[in-house]
Amino acid sequence: RKVALVGTGMVGMSYAYALLNQAVCDELVLIDLDKKRAMGEAMDLNHGLAFSGSNMKIYAGEYRDCADADIVAICAGVAQKPGETRLDLLQRNTEVFRSVVDPVIESGFGGIFLVATNPVDIMTRITHKLSGFPAGRVLGTGTALDTARLRYLLGDYFEADARNVHAYVMGEHGDTEFVPYSQAMLATKPILDICSESSGRYKLSDLDDITEEVRTAAYKIIDAKRATYYGIGMAMTRITKAIFGNENSVLTVSARLNGQYGASDVFVGVPCFINRGGVKKVLTLNLLPEELEKLQASCQTLQQSYDQIKV
Ligand code: ADP
Repeated sequence: RKVALVGTGMVGMSYAYALLNQAVCDELVLIDLDKKRAMGEAMDLNHGLAFSGSNMKIYAGEYRDCADADIVAICAGVAQKPGETRLDLLQRNTEVFRSVVDPVIESGFGGIFLVATNPVDIMTRITHKLSGFPAGRVLGTGTALDTARLRYLLGDYFEADARNVHAYVMGEHGDTEFVPYSQAMLATKPILDICSESSGRYKLSDLDDITEEVRTAAYKIIDAKRATYYGIGMAMTRITKAIFGNENSVLTVSARLNGQYGASDVFVGVPCFINRGGVKKVLTLNLLPEELEKLQASCQTLQQSYDQIKV
């Protein structure tokens, strides 16, 4: 179980730290343009190894170390410069990804790409294009973290264990994401039924507020502490465990649609079965017409962004 991590910034290292604490892999190689940073991070983690109960091999390495990796996780990226448009930034990050994916492929890597760099749905699609890999072996963190936030908030609202809440955030990891509440269950009872039978205690308008809270969570965290990283690092770790454990777990990752939900080619956050081979299958939910429209609108937004960049 070997993970090669490209991009040892805050997100990458939160992932690395979670991998170590949960003993998810046997070997972890850290790769960054800033080699000194990768070396320092490897030293820091190695010094904590004795307290972790794991004997993970951790080192700073090169792209050739990806040859026998099972997963290459990409958290590399550049930040928006003052005055730079979103599109300019996207184009610059496309070039960053070219400088990462090309040497990974040259190494002979034959595993799974896990992408976390934002805008994650677009960067995952770019990784698929640059790598030429089958779509199932390229996935992004998508709405996995948004879904965890949603379950936490719904658990809180209904005063129930979040593990008994089954609901998904779907679509773009960003402004056009949405919650198909027709598909949300508390244990096996539809949440919409719980609301309608509650004599006004639980309200649909509160569910809309919860969706909004999930959608704006990243903005709030960035406002308070400049960046978000622990949550996404743990979401990456959960996906990694589903892969190594061959779990067939259903997680909302960014995966390529191929006719499901009436969309094709785009990578977008949808519930998928994840196992040792990557995305085994997209789970097609029976969305209401208005929910399907929201998903299709989200896919169109992603397609338009992708069409504007040169890959
Ligand atoms: P985040 O908060 O998303 O983790 P950071 O800026 O902390 O953002 O981390 C991004 C990391 O990506 C940095 O360590 C940076 O050196 C790395 N990086 C940027 N460009 C490249 C590149 N072309 N190849 C490899 N790593 C890169």
